[in-house]
Amino acid sequence: MSHSPLAFDHVTLGQRVLFGSGRAAEHVAAAVGHLGAKRVMVIAAAQEAEIAQGAAAGIEVAYVHSDVVMHVPAKAADDARAAAEERGIDLIVSVGGGSTTGLAKAVALTTGIPIVAVPTTYAGSEATNVWGLTEGARKRTGVDDRVLPVTVVYDAKLTLSLPVGLSVASGLNGIAHCVDSMWAPRADPINSAMAAEGIRALAAGLPAIATEPSDLTGRELALYGAYLSAVAFASAGSGMHHKICHVLGGTFNLPHAQTHATVLPYVLAFNAPAAPEAAARIAAAFGAADALGGLQSLREKLDAPKALADYGFTEGDIAEAAAVALPAIPASNPRPVTAANLTALLTAALAGESPQTFAENAD
Ligand code: NAD
Repeated sequence: MSHSPLAFDHVTLGQRVLFGSGRAAEHVAAAVGHLGAKRVMVIAAAQEAEIAQGAAAGIEVAYVHSDVVMHVPAKAADDARAAAEERGIDLIVSVGGGSTTGLAKAVALTTGIPIVAVPTTYAGSEATNVWGLTEGARKRTGVDDRVLPVTVVYDAKLTLSLPVGLSVASGLNGIAHCVDSMWAPRADPINSAMAAEGIRALAAGLPAIATEPSDLTGRELALYGAYLSAVAFASAGSGMHHKICHVLGGTFNLPHAQTHATVLPYVLAFNAPAAPEAAARIAAAFGAADALGGLQSLREKLDAPKALADYGFTEGDIAEAAAVALPAIPASNPRPVTAANLTALLTAALAGESPQTFAENAD
């Protein structure tokens, strides 16, 4: 058996990516023409109606579906599937954040209708074959190539309206994909390389957005980083960070991007000492001496989300969150995770305590 790091089994997902600021309408029209679609359904939340109209300006639209809800409740998925089937839809154009892409994926999962995704946040769902559905208080996820959008159209101009706070949280969600990809179950040198470049691009783009939200350069870097982060995540799989955030979102309905932004420094502080190569790579990508220092100095610049208590998580939720998340955390995590250290992590993240202090005291 080889112990070389250059021995791996890597899958690259097949997808066309059209990147260009101010070119969404042109690129969507090209993608729809290329696919030969006749009955297009646009999925876009009511808040993103104007952005969607612009992106779909060059195509004929058979139906617009706007009933988008975070974390894709099963009922919303069933309604969208029925709407698509009733109208003989042969292509979905989704315009919006991860919630909108997620609804399009739910339709694709059962109907096989292809998706052209036009993302307007840095969540990255458009570049993965992962779907998610919420039933009762549990979020189910799965992997199915039918949900991978066939084409992604990135236009940084569509993200100019994303408020700075949400841009920061969403961009840190992208950085979380990158960091977790370094030690997720299928981590390999290819997705580590993409993750490192994703961190570099997001760490450059986000401060530019925070300083000047209408500057396209920062927005472009963030979208490019978001794409790389999602490609790395799709290949490497979910690590400790994603398993925790998945429970916080699905069981406690915490907002996705802010939850990722808040939890990331605790997972990085916990794992970094046990994963020196990954930590060195993350540090280099931040241009910092150490991984946590790099993340924390970026978070400070961005005034990033700090405490889960600010997003509706309470002390009374910790025991259930730890119990649900613990069995889902991969056994391959660089540092063993126990009920006690997971509880300590959630307790520190609830209050926004120092990640370093938490990690040093965790057993
Ligand atoms: P979101 O899609 O819920 O959007 C957050 C808010 O931003 C919404 O109010 C939305 O209307 C608004 N918004 C979006 N784009 C905007 C713009 N350009 N200007 C102004 N406002 C805008 O949040 P998200 O963080 O993008 O996505 C979260 C969801 O995506 C979660 O359900 C998560 O599980 C899923 N997700 C899935 C994957 C995957 O691989 N399957 C990856 C990442 C995220």
